Amino acid sequence: MANENPANTTAEQPIALNPKLTTITDVSDLNVKNIMVEIVWEKIDSVLSHVEGCCNCTKCRNDILAIVLNNIPSKYVATKQGELFSRINLSDIQNDINLSAIITSAVMYVKDHPRHEG
Ligand SMILES: [Zn+2]
Repeated sequence: MANENPANTTAEQPIALNPKLTTITDVSDLNVKNIMVEIVWEKIDSVLSHVEGCCNCTKCRNDILAIVLNNIPSKYVATKQGELFSRINLSDIQNDINLSAIITSAVMYVKDHPRHEG
């Protein structure tokens, strides 16, 4: 079809999983996470404190988080609880991407397009 909406096609067609992956039945064995989620989440507060007029409710902060995460490379780590940040140099990540600038852009966008009620 010429007029395919990606959102619709993914809803209609289940993702074809590698059959080998279906042998993983215990998801509690999965200990992989994108550490950028927590790094960005913590940084949002400090950026918000410098921007006047942006709401900092949970919904707006989650909107900001989602926008930022969609615009930066993810950084997945295999982790055990408690040793998450020990092997990661946060300043390297900061140097790779200008996180503050990207978060600020997202904050400005959400400030102009808030989706919260009332
Ligand atoms: Zn809000």
